[in-house]
Amino acid sequence: PGEQLPQDPSKPTVVVLGSGWGATSFLKNLDTEEFNVVVVSPRNYFLFTPLLPSVTVGTLEPRSLIQPTRFITRHKKRDVLVYEAEARTVDPINKTVTFEDISEVKGKKGSVTIPYDYLVYAVGCENQTFGIKGVREHACFLKELSDADKIRSKLMDCIETAAFRDQSQEEIDRLMHMVVVGGGPTGVEYAGELHDFLIDDLKKWYPEVADRLKITLVEALPNVLPAFSKQLIQYTESTFKENKIDVLTRTMVKDVGETSVTVQDANKETREIPYGLLVWATGNTSRPITLDLMSKLPATQTQRRGLVIDDYLQLLGARDVFAIGDCTATQYAPTAQVASQEGIYLASVFAKLGQKNKYERQLADLRASGTASADDIESVVKKLNRATKLTPFHYSHQGSLAYIGSEKAIADLPLFNGNVASGGGAAMLFWRSAYVSTLYSVRNRTLVMTDWLKVKLFGRDVSRE
Ligand code: FAD
Ligand code: NAD
Repeated sequence: PGEQLPQDPSKPTVVVLGSGWGATSFLKNLDTEEFNVVVVSPRNYFLFTPLLPSVTVGTLEPRSLIQPTRFITRHKKRDVLVYEAEARTVDPINKTVTFEDISEVKGKKGSVTIPYDYLVYAVGCENQTFGIKGVREHACFLKELSDADKIRSKLMDCIETAAFRDQSQEEIDRLMHMVVVGGGPTGVEYAGELHDFLIDDLKKWYPEVADRLKITLVEALPNVLPAFSKQLIQYTESTFKENKIDVLTRTMVKDVGETSVTVQDANKETREIPYGLLVWATGNTSRPITLDLMSKLPATQTQRRGLVIDDYLQLLGARDVFAIGDCTATQYAPTAQVASQEGIYLASVFAKLGQKNKYERQLADLRASGTASADDIESVVKKLNRATKLTPFHYSHQGSLAYIGSEKAIADLPLFNGNVASGGGAAMLFWRSAYVSTLYSVRNRTLVMTDWLKVKLFGRDVSRE
């Protein structure tokens, strides 16, 4: 780190908001020579979300999936500033960002506004609740590391409470009922992990109550995993049936109470389902800061689903703002795969921008010198023209993978222009190796593989932190 170039006031400043998939892949691929980079995120680390469901039952330990943002920035050519703070507002007219320290420990300075030359907006999304009452108060989400920790702890609390002396049968059934709302990949993967925990560990450690554990997945549409192929949907649903995971399709949650949820089925009949733990995974919605930014650009930002960008990932209606990942509304699904490819592409746009700035400076110097030949000027103009030519972003889909429990995974792989669908043990091996090889650092890979080995040898840890 000592060898890094210092920040250079004569070069433009790029402010990056976020430290998730989009921001991290951008930072990893960015050449910082021509820019001063500032990163602002309330989380000072990158989280490898595809393996997050494994943390809810202790298959993986939380810290195996995270990597400090400074791990990437400290290896950059030029010093990158990283602030643990939440951006509160973006002013696209005056080109400023205001951010605030929202962590527990606060210093005398807790809020600041800084100018940007370029803004990379990659703040992701928050959990969708459709305004259903009681969700935020009583349900657990599965998006952040703290969510997975909370689920793990609450799950064990339910089991311990069910095993409490003289607990009534009815109360044991309620406490041991784990309800998952949303049959997208998040809900499905979580249900699969929970099933494994029951079979591999709970039966050994809590024989008195383990058999009472019931998993119910509630999905509003006619089937789970609407984005996967028909064959894989059937494979998942039949695996769930074998694993005694109850799937209630065409069923919508209408209300959430402290100990039960109200659901409505296809016949519009409503009923109450008592639960011990409720996991809510019904997808994404825009963050308040994103809605606020949209409201400042009413002529172009008309989609509540997310920010509207052009083929070069530039925010419509603003100057020098790029938006990537889940916070945007594009033709692509909000996935890590899309966000990371956008990050890589955007770094290549910045490579061109950097060159453009460099050649413009060279040209100005040549012209100011008064001694440069026409050929010299012409050659720089040519380079400048090349640097201003951009190709639009192109997404290349590598396939979708999901773990569904009992050592089975499903994979939708685009091969030879068609979709090859596969499921089962081979997909499971593929799933594991695919994730291990995309985990960012050797350190993370080692941690994840060690966790898998630990669980194989000793089982999962059932202590409650
Ligand atoms: P994020 O990765 O969510 O990052 C957003 C960042 O912005 C975070 O660092 C956050 O702290 C920060 N931030 C938030 N608010 C502010 C603010 N006000 N100011 C500054 N920073 C802010 N996708 C796949 O392709 N494959 C998978 O297998 C897969 N599995 C998943 C499993 C789970 C459990 C979940 C929840 C998601 C999964 N996804 C998967 C989806 C994937 O995680 C997202 O699409 C991806 O994280 C989007 O990247 P992003 O950078 O847009 O947002
Ligand atoms: P999602 O949007 O994919 O699925 C949410 C599901 O909840 C939908 O099927 C919807 O019909 C259902 N739903 C909504 N309201 C409901 C209600 N009131 N009652 C019952 N069901 C209701 O959400 P997700 O699973 O969190 O995924 C978010 C994004 O992250 C997606 O793009 C997904 O592809 C990606 N992701 C990918 C993977 C993977 O590839 N393995 C894993 C997790 C997430």
